Amino acid sequence: MRWKEQLLTLTPYQPGKSIESVKRQYNLEQIIKLASNENPFGCSQAALSALKENSTSLAIYPDGYATILREKLASFLQVGEDEIILGNGSDNLIQMISRALLHPGASTIMSTHTFSQYKHNAVIEGAVIKEVPDIDGEHDLEGFLTAIDDQTNVIWVCSPNNPTGTYIPESKLIPFLDQVPEHILVVLDEAYYEYVVAEDYYDSISLARKYPNLIVLRTFSKVYGLAAVRVGYGIANSSIIKALEPAREPFNLNSLGQLAAAEALSDQEFVEQCKQKNRQGLAQYYEFCENNSLKFYPSQTNFVLIDFQVEANEVFQYLLERGYIVRSGKALGFPTAVRITVGSPEQNEGLIKVLEQFL
Ligand code: PMP
Repeated sequence: MRWKEQLLTLTPYQPGKSIESVKRQYNLEQIIKLASNENPFGCSQAALSALKENSTSLAIYPDGYATILREKLASFLQVGEDEIILGNGSDNLIQMISRALLHPGASTIMSTHTFSQYKHNAVIEGAVIKEVPDIDGEHDLEGFLTAIDDQTNVIWVCSPNNPTGTYIPESKLIPFLDQVPEHILVVLDEAYYEYVVAEDYYDSISLARKYPNLIVLRTFSKVYGLAAVRVGYGIANSSIIKALEPAREPFNLNSLGQLAAAEALSDQEFVEQCKQKNRQGLAQYYEFCENNSLKFYPSQTNFVLIDFQVEANEVFQYLLERGYIVRSGKALGFPTAVRITVGSPEQNEGLIKVLEQFL
């Protein structure tokens, strides 16, 4: 398909139904949204207070260099300030990487079941997309290597992966990175990094410093609970950062986001508490699945993909009518599964009760 024809096949990203629209449509008082992997416990009080007390003038452009946040991140991660790029969410970083590196004639590699924005942006840039079938929800990194051709310049690795929640163990990632030619950029999207408990996970920041062609993407939208103010960051060798900077809009990070993220970073106790509560929430869903012999993908994230063995939209609709918004697996490549964000213990319990009535 020609580039522009391909572009016309794109549909805008559908973030799912909003709380307000479901309330009105089904005449419900209370809606619980467990669809977009947000933090059910909100964000750090320190970040909230900083926003409330903030004296930032809205008439003034944000700091284009995000000086304070950059300094804090550099010190927290033990990297140089020139090894950091900031984005209006990691969505914006995915967009910047695509804008800087992809073009008609280039090819890019990703898994068939992964975060939609890699493909979306590659289509916009007119690149050839090579999707490698996953192996039971996990990236086939051997397949990624085989898919490399002379035109390949970006490979997308999502670990832990959305929508499966699975991760790549260190023993598989390192040999893969060793084999990717240096002129190809490997993007390691770690939006859910802070939720990981697997012992054979890798030290991604050290990897980003070791491999000159690796960029690690993280976000304040998930465990930090700051999705609304849009802050993501990338860590890579300073020459990669330099190459990406021209693709960044000058004021891509708003002032409130910079302020909130810098404060949130200092409150690691909040992060740790959310991580613990998330594991307990996941355990509630695992128990439900085991009791009902449902297949699920063991998750290192704040969501779980459950296979109900029936048309995904049927489960989705059933829950919607009862006030729960989840994500149907249909658009995610899992036609009989549903992706559920782990909520508070009460939200999980409520949803599980409704699901038990469905079965
Ligand atoms: N990467 C992955 C894997 C995600 O799941 C998401 C959010 N759904 C993002 C990136 C984008 O996150 P944000 O733009 O809010 O940082």
